Amino acid sequence: MPEPEPEPEPGPVTGIKAAEVGPDFVLWTWDPVPSAVRYQARVFPEAGYDSYVEDDLPEPMLRVDGLEPGSAVKITVRVVVRTDEGGVAWPWSDYVVAETLPPPSRQCTDERARAVRHSEFVLEWDGTPLRVDMIDNFPDYVTGDAVAALLGAVGLLADKIEDQLGYRIVEMGEVVPVPEGLPPDWNKDPRDYRRNCWLPRDDGQIYGFYMDAVYDSAPSAGAQAHPRCGAFTFLRPGVERRLDTGSGEWPCADLGCTYDGTTMHELFHVLGYQHIDHDDPNEGISMSRALDDSSGTPGAQSVTWSDIDALRCIFPKGG
Ligand SMILES: [Zn+2]
Repeated sequence: MPEPEPEPEPGPVTGIKAAEVGPDFVLWTWDPVPSAVRYQARVFPEAGYDSYVEDDLPEPMLRVDGLEPGSAVKITVRVVVRTDEGGVAWPWSDYVVAETLPPPSRQCTDERARAVRHSEFVLEWDGTPLRVDMIDNFPDYVTGDAVAALLGAVGLLADKIEDQLGYRIVEMGEVVPVPEGLPPDWNKDPRDYRRNCWLPRDDGQIYGFYMDAVYDSAPSAGAQAHPRCGAFTFLRPGVERRLDTGSGEWPCADLGCTYDGTTMHELFHVLGYQHIDHDDPNEGISMSRALDDSSGTPGAQSVTWSDIDALRCIFPKGG
């Protein structure tokens, strides 16, 4: 009697694709695995880290609903097969990303006027990309590479805006030393800074820098924008919170340690945006939910299609 042929090993799932997309959903399918008992999928909606696992998928398909129009969703899939010893899960597949259909572009109305009411800086737009530089005045444990990485998120945003609108509105600048001639306590008091806008700037230039202070009205705040000064700051509690005291690494490696989302949020305040629940609807453009609650979101992912769509009205092409 010949030995029975062993079952072929199924291996990672292949052929994952978005079979259908709508404004708020993606229907995923993949190649069926003959010996599959079920499939598992890990789903990463674009807005941050709130990934979840669909544990019990009998068919090689998954529909993800409740997504934002024009946003990305990423998944990875694996197959569970039965063996003599019970079930075994094969390794996760490569990530596959799909985007939902964007909503129709907004008709511009009073976005620019509303943005100016929140941030006079908006008036400096002349069609030249707004340049974001980062002052190298962080505590020693924040290395030069880490400061450059903070600025890297701005570069990602610059490209994301151009991809959607076809022109550039912001530009990643450089990590620069503290300019000479500032008073010694220039970065020690948020209210004083807001009054005096100490850093000398060119039109259309934005500075990020370390504010060596706790903001008394919100002692746990990790960052703050000063729109009129064309600046945003990383406050001491937020910077200290991201220090891994064991390894001395900054930012720490855990989920939520990245400062990128905070950079996006504060930068958008300077660009004329306000929190979702802000008091005066005539002041500022409402951030998307992802941008409003962007802490811990890496890169420029917290900035959604709708956030960028409104930029087009505030900073029209050509100035
Ligand atoms: Zn804010």
